[in-house]
Amino acid sequence: MTEQISHWIDGRNTPGTSGRTAPVYNPATGQRSAVVALASAGEVNDAVARAVAAAKDWRHASLSTRSGVLFAFRELLHERTNELAAIVTAEHGKVLSDSAGEIARGLENVEFAAGAPQLLKGGFSEQAGTGVDVYSIRQPLGVVAGITPFNFPVMVPLWMCANAIACGNAFILKPSEKDPSASLFLAQMWKDAGLPDGAFTVIQGDKEAVDALLTHADIAAVSFVGSTPIAKYIYETGTAHGKRVQALGGAKNHALVLPDADVDMAADAVVSAAYGSAGERCMALSVAVAVGDVADPLVNAIAARLPKLRIGDGTHPDTDMGPLITAAHRDKVAAYIDAGAQQGATVVVDGREEEVPTEGFFLGTTLLDHVTPEMTVYTDEIFGPVLCIVRVETYEQGLALINNNPYANGTAIFTRDGGAARQFQFDVEVGMVGINVPVPVPVAYYSFGGWKASLFGDAHMYGAEGMNFYTRGKVVTARWPDPASSAVDLGFPRTR
Ligand code: NAD
Repeated sequence: MTEQISHWIDGRNTPGTSGRTAPVYNPATGQRSAVVALASAGEVNDAVARAVAAAKDWRHASLSTRSGVLFAFRELLHERTNELAAIVTAEHGKVLSDSAGEIARGLENVEFAAGAPQLLKGGFSEQAGTGVDVYSIRQPLGVVAGITPFNFPVMVPLWMCANAIACGNAFILKPSEKDPSASLFLAQMWKDAGLPDGAFTVIQGDKEAVDALLTHADIAAVSFVGSTPIAKYIYETGTAHGKRVQALGGAKNHALVLPDADVDMAADAVVSAAYGSAGERCMALSVAVAVGDVADPLVNAIAARLPKLRIGDGTHPDTDMGPLITAAHRDKVAAYIDAGAQQGATVVVDGREEEVPTEGFFLGTTLLDHVTPEMTVYTDEIFGPVLCIVRVETYEQGLALINNNPYANGTAIFTRDGGAARQFQFDVEVGMVGINVPVPVPVAYYSFGGWKASLFGDAHMYGAEGMNFYTRGKVVTARWPDPASSAVDLGFPRTR
């Protein structure tokens, strides 16, 4: 019988009752490995009710108790990385070292959140008025939800839940239905780390579950990571229902390669960032903007590297790039290559023709040269192993191209000129910038987020902005009057 992946409600696996399921595949074999329950609105409501009860208790937990749970979770995550990486690779397809890499980056968020006692310290002003003290405190919101994409089934949930839980909230995760098993592994680890039942919940599901969360009166805030159209929908629907929302969307990340760049180093960096995880990263570099006469050597250097990439099952230690997430997505990416060729791009390396395993959702690496801004391979987020080269004459033209793009998640400049790099950092309208760093995902004590169509809402994710997002501020003005000087005074309170 096919395994059914369940929800996690009130500290235990809870089979779905809606009668609706979705298939889960091993992308490396193309075989269906399980089905995942898809929650009904009624199941979501029941889970939220349990989370509300848990949130009431968890906010009473002392800061050191909360921090202790985070430290214990951190130890478990560290010890069990290989097991969890195998689960990620079996449903996502990325190579095992990449799965372990996303767990390591998620672990940094747990370590950051373990510092909650320091991070949640408020301000205090003695004698703000005569005999009056003023201080600020940050309190949890209650029940908060996170809706996450398929491409980082561990790291993105940890971007959210580590901070949310450390702040004293109950957290409900609605993971991607394409690779849902990692969420249950995280849930078991939270329980083993000592988090009370109900403070971490997993609702498996699709739009029906998401809509039930977005409209539920007891959900105070929603964090979302996924594609731009859905991010916009989540932001508009969630805020219309009175929720605080941060919704991170899609991307089209450009590398700007200046004529003075070390071509081999730039090619290594661009190939790593374009084809790592088969291009299914929101920080993948999908466009390389070659300035001036660096274009020919850069294209040649990239093209020379692609045949050396080993494509196959992500569980094999010598594989560099795994399959795409589904057959439909593989076909969609291949259709973009067709369109690019028809619209006039030069297909330097054609992933459609590369020999790849016939079972599973594999596609080879593609390099398209002479791409222009009207082509669909440039305008759309492809989310696959396709790199576009756009040739420009000057730095200004390259900068204008990047700044005119509707997406603004990440970008990177490759140069040996410190002044040019600093100018780029100053000029570019993008949320995360790399200087000779191809995938500039901020460390956990900064915050992650793009600009423009890559982020809806004001708060970036994790770091200090994450702590603020999951708490609300309260300011207390206190006086302990001396009975000897107490008197009625109908005037407006003054500080002088
Ligand atoms: P997706 O938008 O299809 O799905 C994301 C989540 O939304 C999933 O949990 C899914 O079940 C849910 N969802 C899908 N359709 C919905 C609908 N109509 N109504 C309500 N909920 C819905 O994204 P994906 O394919 O899982 O992930 C890839 C996308 O995520 C890419 O666009 C990528 O750039 C983006 N992404 C962005 C970041 C970032 O930090 N900006 C990080 C990772 C991924």
